[in-house]
Amino acid sequence: MPKAVGIDLGTTNSVIAVMEGGKPDVIVNAEGARTTPSVVAYKGEERLVGQIAKRQAALNPKATLFEVKRFIGRRWDEIREEAGRIPFVVKEGQGGGVRIEANGQDLAPEQVSAEVLRKLVNDASAKIGETIRDVVITVPAYFDNSQREATRQAGEIAGLNVLRVINEPTAAALAYGLDKKGNETVLVFDLGGGTFDVTILELGEGVFEVKSTSGDTHLGGADFDQRIVSWLADEFKKDHNFDLRKDPQALQRLIEAAERAKIELSQASETTISLPFITFDPETRTPLHLERTLSRAKFEELIGDLLRRVREPVQRALSDAKLSPAQIDEVILVGGSTRVPAVKRIVKDIVGKEPNESVNPDEAVALGAAVQAGIISGDASLGDIVLVDVTPLTLGVEVKGGMIAPLITRNTTVPAKKTEVFTTAENNQPGVEINVLQGERPLAADNKSLGRFKLEGIPPMRAGTPQIEVTFDIDANGILHVTAKEKSSGKEASIRIENTTTLDKTEVERMVREAEQNASADKARREKIEKRNALDSLRVQALQQIDESAADQALKDRVKALADEAEEATKGDDDARVADVQKRLEDALRELMTASQAQGDAQGQPKQDDDVIDADFKPAD
Ligand code: AMP
Repeated sequence: MPKAVGIDLGTTNSVIAVMEGGKPDVIVNAEGARTTPSVVAYKGEERLVGQIAKRQAALNPKATLFEVKRFIGRRWDEIREEAGRIPFVVKEGQGGGVRIEANGQDLAPEQVSAEVLRKLVNDASAKIGETIRDVVITVPAYFDNSQREATRQAGEIAGLNVLRVINEPTAAALAYGLDKKGNETVLVFDLGGGTFDVTILELGEGVFEVKSTSGDTHLGGADFDQRIVSWLADEFKKDHNFDLRKDPQALQRLIEAAERAKIELSQASETTISLPFITFDPETRTPLHLERTLSRAKFEELIGDLLRRVREPVQRALSDAKLSPAQIDEVILVGGSTRVPAVKRIVKDIVGKEPNESVNPDEAVALGAAVQAGIISGDASLGDIVLVDVTPLTLGVEVKGGMIAPLITRNTTVPAKKTEVFTTAENNQPGVEINVLQGERPLAADNKSLGRFKLEGIPPMRAGTPQIEVTFDIDANGILHVTAKEKSSGKEASIRIENTTTLDKTEVERMVREAEQNASADKARREKIEKRNALDSLRVQALQQIDESAADQALKDRVKALADEAEEATKGDDDARVADVQKRLEDALRELMTASQAQGDAQGQPKQDDDVIDADFKPAD
């Protein structure tokens, strides 16, 4: 059976891991790196993913997509403000969802994430020498239903079989606790690029039981970067009366420089940000440069309110788990942003304990996901590990007066199933509309609507008589299925929650097809380029041989004519012509070298080694 892998699909970076000899291990990508930037760029007909996409971001700011995880499964009105702060176009899609515009294409965030997943899996398949299809993908624990469903769909679009969607902190705890023997209560503090999660678990004898989880899906290292960007742009505006945020290229450079400065400040107490030629003075057209020194103290001041925002979710998780900080045995830090010294300080301050830094914050989540993939696919080396997770947010339906009636409260163990009976408010009401909600606020309008559906054909009855059974069923992925049934008539309606922020089935199918077509088009394009490169290097070799050869001029002229033809063919679109010229030039070149050798022999020059001739004729691959 081919291996199942675990994937940490991060806001900033992604990691893929697999069980190997009873232990989870990260699989390096094609570039030899353990993490892959979650960046996708569209350039002409090409799609670039990972480091290569990140590297060209400043030159292609409008079609280099990053931090797309912030938009996956969200409604436009939830992310409108963030959308204005990035160099590419994020806009409202049909039905209030989010779309991204790049290179003339209208893309769903799921499609962009699918490109990252595809690269991770393709590289890993090549590395381990088998085709990977089964994956476990992690999501922030605090992701709601639509965000989870959208992540699962991204996997589907990438042609993968998503065995399970699991929570990032739970995965990190799996990686941390795999070798632990005794019982421990741990708090996982996970601050990544775009999201913050805190989860409290009890570990012991192979059981990993989540007690509570909380978080903020809008808080992460990218927000720290944004604060530096705003500060730099404001200062620059003061000096030059020019807003760098209006220039996508300058903005992209600012974002990159801000992240670098932030990372440096995790080690140093001061750093210099230097961006020469950041723009031109609009009046004098002279180049303008940006140079600023940022101290760690100033940085901490810039992010002060963001840091304070982590406090409440930690306290909520503790109170939901009915634990005091003193009852936490270990605090585990996960996510790149926990390297910021001020973050470590605030964690210590809240929990009153030095954080445990034994896990690698960049890799723990993927490693844990690989363990979960191993458990699901029956990896015998793992023994009996039991994972008990919870749902992060309360689920309910809207009832009269615009209130929410909760069916499954937050921090309920999943999978879970709950049925409640509702009735009608009016006499002879023929149907009811069920609005499924997720969130903690008492008023329906303040929570996220996951979808609405109608149960129709209720026989005429007095108000309050019909018995409408509503059942909520959350699967192990934390994804909800809802059914409603009127008991006297047996009328039933159900939905798998797919609302406006997730894609419908036909859309997913279309994207799967497109992604497959894209993958084969990419392959064809690569082959086309490779063939032209091979012909071009043969042409260069031919010109060199003409110069060095002692063969007669007529033969040299013929090779030169073919080399010219090759030059033209590499510029054109005709593959048959490329192949034909390649063949004829190879033959002519072989002739030239033989003639040259014969001439050399006649003149007493040493005979060239046959092997060298053969090696020269290998098409460049
Ligand atoms: P993750 O989503 O866990 O990959 O975290 C990525 C975030 O961590 C990004 O915002 C990075 O800029 C940030 N990050 C990575 N390394 C460091 C570091 N040494 N100091 C501060 N932030 C970091």
